[in-house]
Amino acid sequence: MGILDGRKGLILGVANKRSVAWACARALQREGMELALTFANDRLEGNVRELAGELGVKTVLPCDVTRDADMDALVDSVGTAFGQLDCIVHAVAFAKREELTGNYIDTSKEGYQLAQEVSVFSLPAVSRRMVPLMEGREGSIVTLTYIGSERVIPNYNVMGVAKAALEASVRYLAHDLGPRGIRVNAISAGPIRTLSAAGIEGFATILDTIAARAPLRRNITAEEVGDTCAFLAGPHSRGITGSTIYVDAGYHIMGL
Ligand code: NAP
Repeated sequence: MGILDGRKGLILGVANKRSVAWACARALQREGMELALTFANDRLEGNVRELAGELGVKTVLPCDVTRDADMDALVDSVGTAFGQLDCIVHAVAFAKREELTGNYIDTSKEGYQLAQEVSVFSLPAVSRRMVPLMEGREGSIVTLTYIGSERVIPNYNVMGVAKAALEASVRYLAHDLGPRGIRVNAISAGPIRTLSAAGIEGFATILDTIAARAPLRRNITAEEVGDTCAFLAGPHSRGITGSTIYVDAGYHIMGL
């Protein structure tokens, strides 16, 4: 018996085996949740289908979150496949590589808008569409954030500003959806080597800093994020909403 037996979940953001979304998928499935995965574009489809096959996941759907038509079709497909939905894991973010180096002051308007659209607006946009499937089922929405939202991490720039907006969105969505029985939380993960992380200049230095300074004196694993995601998706976190939970080996408490 898993803590998520009989529940249905939608996971956005699997690109490959290193993706945080993939670790979340494995943890939720281990606890008994039936899953649907999305892929962002044709380039990723084969990879995501192959990974889905490893977990026996049959529902694999396209969703580029910059396309309204994709999100509209997604809710129809999830409704057809599951009839209802208990959980959304939103592990999607994007900024142009040139915005993740140098100074924030040089951020382009287009780069700012793109980061906000993909990394922030997609959360309310997908949630609003899925609410009719989630109402009255003790649903849970989980997104992924990073401490660059509240402290300056050199080069994180436009994505730090996007993550600040994402965390504020979590609070407003929690307020909107609480009366409808749906909780909304964020996991603030420590740095993990993934495709997206590779685009941040100086990422190796960030990893070394955490290993040296975090209370646990190590970096975290994607599996640790997945386990926290399973907790937030399930009944043991039923009193928690609107929160940012840190899975960062304790780094966020440090002043120096
Ligand atoms: P990842 O494997 O590259 O996952 C990011 C996903 O977002 C990819 O599947 C990517 O697809 C997708 N995406 C980008 N643009 C999209 C769009 N328009 N529509 C739909 N999907 C789109 O990297 P990750 O590190 O696991 O990132 C997952 C989440 O964790 C992100 O929110 C990230 O900010 C957060 N996070 C990561 C870390 C870390 O250190 N890795 C730490 C804290 C928080 P493409 O590959 O096609 O772009």
